[in-house]
Amino acid sequence: MYDFAYLKPASLSDAANQLASPDSKLLAGGMSLIPSLKLRLNRYATLVDLGALADLKGIRREGDALVIGAMTPHAEVAASDEVLTVLPALASLAEGIGDPLVRNRGTLGGSIANADPAADYPAAVVGLGASVITNRRTITADDFFKGVFETALQPDEIITAVRFPIPKRAAYAKYRQPASRFALVGVFAVQSANGVRVAVTGAAPSVFRLAAAEAALIKRFAVAALDGITLDTEGLNSDIHASAEYRAHAVVEMTKRAVAAALK
Ligand SMILES: Cc1cc2nc3c(=O)[nH]c(=O)nc-3n(C[C@H](O)[C@H](O)[C@H](O)COP(=O)(O)OP(=O)(O)OC[C@H]3O[C@@H](n4cnc5c(N)ncnc54)[C@H](O)[C@@H]3O)c2cc1C
Repeated sequence: MYDFAYLKPASLSDAANQLASPDSKLLAGGMSLIPSLKLRLNRYATLVDLGALADLKGIRREGDALVIGAMTPHAEVAASDEVLTVLPALASLAEGIGDPLVRNRGTLGGSIANADPAADYPAAVVGLGASVITNRRTITADDFFKGVFETALQPDEIITAVRFPIPKRAAYAKYRQPASRFALVGVFAVQSANGVRVAVTGAAPSVFRLAAAEAALIKRFAVAALDGITLDTEGLNSDIHASAEYRAHAVVEMTKRAVAAALK
């Protein structure tokens, strides 16, 4: 690990000011950032720790949505009565992330800012058509994820919360890599007043919507509606864990499982 200065601001405006200096980087739970520093994959002059900003933590109901603070750890989302009651699919997704250490330290904001192709939260953010709220603007889910570890965030922009509309039905089905528990393929399927959305993580460089499944499910939200749907392997990930063909098959299977779970 290279040397760096460590700052822990007491307000969001202080954090934004500190982040504006060259080579500064936000630190949330540190579950992704610290290993990358330890391996000397990244080097920053200053880390700006968001850990003292209580306003960035917590879960609240706002009309027809749940608003979850960027610094809310996965374990809190998994155990929240509010989430378990109105959006159990999100609680279940959070419960399936990594291990207890990762769930206690890792945060919603850190996960989506990191935009790991195999991360779980991007599927929920895109599947639910959520809005990512930053210290400057609101970014719709469909505009947020741009590629491998790449988002629409500016280098000095801070996610403060995510607004998740509460759907009629939703479920997340994940085929996990057994060692890390990251998603080899994860599918978040949603039926809401605005229609149907199906978001896939783990299968491609970035989360994407499965248009063919959405078109079939809008006519009839049933597992049988997905019969005959296939996914082209073009552009899918292929690595030591699974080939593109394997992932294409798993996407369809996980979509069926997500729809079946949503209907329960
Ligand atoms: C062993 C292990 C297993 C894991 N398994 C899974 C899994 O199964 N599924 C899964 O989804 N994830 C998994 N993860 C990742 C985990 O979910 C982390 O929580 C997540 O990658 C990063 O969150 P963090 O809060 O630790 O962020 P950090 O590591 O602190 O930061 C990550 C990045 O986000 C930026 N950032 C952080 N907060 C903000 C903010 N508010 N605004 C803007 N930028 C911000 C940082 O600058 C940094 O670039 C695993 C991690 C480990 C170590």
